[in-house]
Amino acid sequence: MEQNDNKNSGLNRRKFLQGAALGLAGMALPLDRADASFWESFFQKHFREMNDAEIKKVLSRLEKECEIKYKKAVKIGNEKAMPGVMFGYGLDLSRCIGCRRCVYGCVDENNQSLDPQIHWITVLRFKKGEKWVDLENAEKYYNPDKVPQDDYFYMPVQCQQCENPPCVRACPTQATWKDPDGIVVIDYNWCIGCRYCMAACPYGARRFNWTEPNRPAEKINPNTHYLGNRPRYKGVVEKCTFCIQRSRNGRYPACVEACPVGARKFGNLLDPESEIRYAIKHKRVFRLKEDLNTNPKFYYFFAYGK
Ligand code: SF4
Ligand code: SF4
Repeated sequence: MEQNDNKNSGLNRRKFLQGAALGLAGMALPLDRADASFWESFFQKHFREMNDAEIKKVLSRLEKECEIKYKKAVKIGNEKAMPGVMFGYGLDLSRCIGCRRCVYGCVDENNQSLDPQIHWITVLRFKKGEKWVDLENAEKYYNPDKVPQDDYFYMPVQCQQCENPPCVRACPTQATWKDPDGIVVIDYNWCIGCRYCMAACPYGARRFNWTEPNRPAEKINPNTHYLGNRPRYKGVVEKCTFCIQRSRNGRYPACVEACPVGARKFGNLLDPESEIRYAIKHKRVFRLKEDLNTNPKFYYFFAYGK
């Protein structure tokens, strides 16, 4: 009984807010609902308006909901952005072999749905010698016996953590925003699933949960962050957060660790000694769709120098 109440409560609130945001008449509050958890969830404040005590209460309620649903303890953290840190990412295209280990490392770390499959990273394949990369028409579903293939190069794409993110501007409920360390985050309890952010993102980086995400309990990573890899709901949008649950605890994102050829670099853009600053200074870097003024903090480069 309690499980169903908890499961339904997010959806009811979401449906109500969606109706309100879209200006639909006749959206009635479900006044017959008496359980405390439902009302706590319904009236949960915007994450950025909550004080520490309120956040603690919300996290403890959500942890209990996860425990009931997965029969497994899940820790939902709230590590804040550290002062003096602005995260940036580098990807060495001359090293990437297109193996997709980063994709599956990300799926496991970030509790992505297995059925239907949700991937926050897409690895694109391009024929060598093509004049320029066409992201929209690139090949996503290549499946050769072996990688790398002689005639191709590979380009993994994920959220570019734009400094000037159009997804944030498009959201009618301020459920997505940029934190001080540059990570663009989503509050799944505020997302109403309108998908305006997906339409606004020029990099196709956001994913929508059309159905209840499906991940068996034994595959749940219990170390999560409220704004990152905690289990999601049907009807909400999700995307890469530079593994906020790791990076804010001084660890590399899972994709950096999963890459067998060291193609992925990560660090603090404000630290002149960091690996990412070294790459920007010494390699031929470029960013995707720079003309759009999104100012991504995701840099592609080729290992040979300038
Ligand atoms: S890549 Fe897309 S989802 Fe990520 S910050 Fe930029 S606009 Fe938003
Ligand atoms: S794991 Fe590394 S080499 Fe493999 S696809 Fe990802 S970035 Fe490329």
